[in-house]
Amino acid sequence: MSEDTKGKPRQPGFETRAIHAGAPPDPVTGARTMPIYHTTAYVFDDVEHAASLFNLSTFGYIYSRLTNPTVAALEERVASLEGGRGATATASGHAAQLVAFFALMAPGESFLASRKLYGGSLTQFGRTFAKFDWHAIFVDPDDPENFARALTPNCKAIFVESLANPGGVVTDIEAIARIARDAGIPLIVDNTLATPYLCRPIEWGADIVVHSTTKFLGGHGNAMGGALVDSGRFDWAQNDKFPALTAPEPAYHGLRFYETFGDMALIMQTKAVGLRDLGPALSPMNAFLTLTGIETLPLRMQRHCENALAVARFLEAHPRVDWVSYAGLPSNPYAALARKYMPGGAGAVFTFGVKGGYDAGVKVVESCELLSHLANVGDTRSLILHPASTTHRQLTDEQRTAAGAGPEVVRLSIGLESVEDIIADLDQALGLSATRP
Ligand SMILES: *Cc1c(COP(=O)(O)O)cnc(C)c1O
Repeated sequence: MSEDTKGKPRQPGFETRAIHAGAPPDPVTGARTMPIYHTTAYVFDDVEHAASLFNLSTFGYIYSRLTNPTVAALEERVASLEGGRGATATASGHAAQLVAFFALMAPGESFLASRKLYGGSLTQFGRTFAKFDWHAIFVDPDDPENFARALTPNCKAIFVESLANPGGVVTDIEAIARIARDAGIPLIVDNTLATPYLCRPIEWGADIVVHSTTKFLGGHGNAMGGALVDSGRFDWAQNDKFPALTAPEPAYHGLRFYETFGDMALIMQTKAVGLRDLGPALSPMNAFLTLTGIETLPLRMQRHCENALAVARFLEAHPRVDWVSYAGLPSNPYAALARKYMPGGAGAVFTFGVKGGYDAGVKVVESCELLSHLANVGDTRSLILHPASTTHRQLTDEQRTAAGAGPEVVRLSIGLESVEDIIADLDQALGLSATRP
């Protein structure tokens, strides 16, 4: 490794790590891409070796519900790109959120969450987590002080999205990280829509980053997956709020994760307890597809952002469009935050309001031919959705409006096709939306 003038090893660049981190040539076969280790279990040398693996005193593989070499390569790559200490990959983005909170929460406790989140996260936190007696307190993220005001003594975390799905909302991570630090609790940032190419929350003070790798990291709409990345900087022993990390773990004859593993405590806990007992392991095949996707993440994100900006400008000037919510437009209220936190571009997912309300929104979505009408983002293909009738359908009118998913709202995830073709398709669909059914 080359050295800089101070004699410290030089950190390879982002593009280099996107291709190489976690995946050196296979030492046995020389295979240059990361092999897909499609195995459930791993042979022990002898009983003593098995025992030390089960005690977590030797590093190695036991069973693929906990760890797998292909999945481990993905974990190392995502951690490297986010600037984190380590990562735990999961079967989906929602599983990453579940496993992260499972390490932090006990029944009867609460956490603060932005009210501008991916609709699925609002439902997971507000409805399903309540069955574990974990309580999300939703806060308007536009004023960071709202988080300080909503804190209670039993809050265990603050959760926000760096770039919020679907409305192109940019969050003031640095200000909210300060509030979390003062309260002695971790800030968790969902960085799915920005990706570490555009925004690295850990550099702004976040403690944990979660991803749906299903979206831009994988990038091709072909593999579900998730990951949580730990900065390794949070001091779990600064208070008595996190016994899963600091108190003796009965399932490991009293092992204390923080005392034993230090800055890898959360990553070890989420695998050895979270994945082991909840079970949402990522498949090696999906880890392979996601690793391959990440190799082109920098190039894809550049083009995603360029195409999205061109489409946003076209829509802003279109007579059938009321408003466009893309933080990359200078007129957008989040433009200054976007320049600070994601100077390389404001991503490719945004919303616009079509004139004519619910019916016109449905008509635009149904009239597109190139853009696919489906519930996903972060594909090479351009995608279109009417949140009020789909992803945000389970919410109340008030929650929908607060989440930026009112009746007239159309969500786009701009892909990598020729931008003229994307614009032409939207133009004809908007024209049809003017006709009465
Ligand atoms: C899709 C998504 C999730 C959930 O991820 P899955 O992989 O679908 O479980 C969470 N957060 C954001 C921002 C998302 O877009």
